[in-house]
Amino acid sequence: MTGTVKLYDDAPYEKEFTAVVLDVKEDEDGCVLVILDRTLFFPEEGGQSSDTGILSGFEVLHASIKEGVITHRVRCALSDIGTGDEVTGHIDWEHRFSNMQNHTGEHILSGLLHDMFHSENKGFHLSDNIVTLDTSKELDGNMLVMLESRANEVIYKDIPVECRYYAPEELKGKEYRSKIELKEDIRLVTIPGVDVCACCAPHVSRTGEIGIIKILRAIRYKGGMRLTILAGRRAYEHLSHLQDITDELSHVLSESTDKLKDAVERLLRENGEYRLRIKNEAGRRLEEAAYAIPADSHDAVIFTEAVDNTVQRNAVNMLVRDHKGICAVFASDDAGGYNFILSHPGQDARIISGLLKEKLSARGGGSGEMVQGNVKASREDILRVLNITLA
Ligand SMILES: [Zn+2]
Repeated sequence: MTGTVKLYDDAPYEKEFTAVVLDVKEDEDGCVLVILDRTLFFPEEGGQSSDTGILSGFEVLHASIKEGVITHRVRCALSDIGTGDEVTGHIDWEHRFSNMQNHTGEHILSGLLHDMFHSENKGFHLSDNIVTLDTSKELDGNMLVMLESRANEVIYKDIPVECRYYAPEELKGKEYRSKIELKEDIRLVTIPGVDVCACCAPHVSRTGEIGIIKILRAIRYKGGMRLTILAGRRAYEHLSHLQDITDELSHVLSESTDKLKDAVERLLRENGEYRLRIKNEAGRRLEEAAYAIPADSHDAVIFTEAVDNTVQRNAVNMLVRDHKGICAVFASDDAGGYNFILSHPGQDARIISGLLKEKLSARGGGSGEMVQGNVKASREDILRVLNITLA
């Protein structure tokens, strides 16, 4: 079978076409695989997701290409489309144009990366959720700001984008980006002064149509960087979403958007101060509880609210100074169970925690001097178990 005629090569802005069905067969998942003599559906290729749309009233879920032949996966029955039928196709234009904007945006970034930093494009991924571009070199924050700024300058200049095939002899001495060695005619996408690249996908006809390019994230990846980028309407929608978030934050914090960072830092500082105050007060209450235990009491066990671990440990250290029996602080409540720290001066504290483990399925560990753990049991049950050890 000869290759499918790629109508999108010369007519990237056409949305509707007619074609003749060359072959149909059922797919494993109940869909139908349709091969046409020509198509506007760009197949998944070169890291870019495929076009979707409608063929003869049925949904086209995906298009793929193998040895030049494009196969459309269509949600219909085998009896709905027959070999020899003339069919009409419509591509989902919003999806396609968004891909054209993002794809052409990637060419601009890749061309500039090469010119500005001698960094090559090592990978490109354009799905409906995310657009990434991998570079061969690491780039710092300043470089990324310069890159993004230059890319948007290219948009303002509204430079024409030329896509056409070149015969091998025409290509002699011509410099262009290409990841693979091709022997036949090559389709070059040229953005004068910015980028020349071998590429098979549809692009916008002028850079101005991209509207905006944003680099959202940059992480180190395989010796270079993985840039998450957005262009066109998707960038606009993303920025609108971010503005909604900052507007909401501004409303919640009663602060203008340019002072949000100061407002959040102030909140964090205040929060830290409150936590410290709460911790100190809990420590003071625990100290009081420790002093309230009669000095001649053999054991010293305190049940208290949830407290900071250090506060709890300090209280146990206090108890150990004055009492010879079980010295323990159980923090929290019956409903959620207790975090405990316990000691048994002159004896192995793990014997007591062993009892709690055995009788009440407590968890925890530590040294002979001090054990820390938690137990899902009531205060009454815990005391009962501890009393058994005292008997
Ligand atoms: Zn391209």
